Amino acid sequence: MRKKIVAGNWKMNLTLAQGEQLINDILQAGLKLAEGQEVVVATPFPYLAKAKSLLKNYPGYFVAAQNCASEKAGAFTGEVSAEMLQSVGVDYVIIGHSERREYFNETNAILAKKVDLALANGLKPIFCCGEPLAVRQAETQNEYVARQLEESLYHLTAEQLKQVVIAYEPIWAIGTGLTASAGQAQDMHAFIRGQIANKFGREAALHLTILYGGSAKPGNAAELFANPDVDGGLIGGASLVAADFAAIISSLS
Ligand code: 13P
Repeated sequence: MRKKIVAGNWKMNLTLAQGEQLINDILQAGLKLAEGQEVVVATPFPYLAKAKSLLKNYPGYFVAAQNCASEKAGAFTGEVSAEMLQSVGVDYVIIGHSERREYFNETNAILAKKVDLALANGLKPIFCCGEPLAVRQAETQNEYVARQLEESLYHLTAEQLKQVVIAYEPIWAIGTGLTASAGQAQDMHAFIRGQIANKFGREAALHLTILYGGSAKPGNAAELFANPDVDGGLIGGASLVAADFAAIISSLS
C-alpha cells in the first residue's frame, strides 16, 4: 500500500537552537509509527544537515528541503542545488509551494526542471499544487490543478512518478485558519488520483501519496486523514509546536 506521511513545513521560522529543540521534543513524544507511515521535517537550508543527524537513527523520520535550484550548478549566487541537498543527506524536497510560485515567480515550467533535478539526485519531490480563492469561487479548481500537474509532472515516466509525493494545498486555506472541508479535500484528491491514473496508469495512481495542506491542525487532522484519498498532510503553522505536530502525526489512520 502507499505511504502515509505527515510533513512539517517550517517555512522561514525558528533559529537553529529552536529547531533542534522542536525535533527533540517531537522525538520525545515517542510516537509509534505504523508500517508505511513517515514523518518529514522540512527545515530551512542551514539546519538540514543537523536535522538529518538528529533523525537518522529514527526509522520513519526524514528530512526535506523547502526548495531547490532549477539549474544543476554554477554561477547562481544564493541558490542551493539538488545535488548539494543530496550530499548532506536530505531525503525529500518541497517543490512548487504556492509561496514560491507567488513571491518568487516560479512557473510550472521552472518547477518541471526542479522536479527533474530532484529525481536525478535521488531526492523525492513533494510537489505542491492548489488553486487561489478566485479559482475556487469560479469552480474551476479541477482545471487549474490539472494544468499544474500536466505542465510540471507529465513529462515523467511512471517509474519516476513513483518517487513523487503530491501535496494539494488550496491557497485560500494556507495560514488563513480556513481549512478545506473533508469533502472538498477528498474530492480534489480523488480528482488528482484520477488524472494520474489516466496519464500514468492505475498502478502508479494507487501508489501515489497525496497530502493535504492548509490550516491542518490537531482538531481537524483526523477527519481529513480519514478520507480514502488523503494520505496525510503538509503542515505549516501547527508543525512549529511539538505537541500539535505530534497530535497530527497520531491522527494518521
Ligand atoms: P498552514 O498549515 O500554516 O496553513 O500552512 C500550510 C502550508 O503551506 C504547508 O506547506
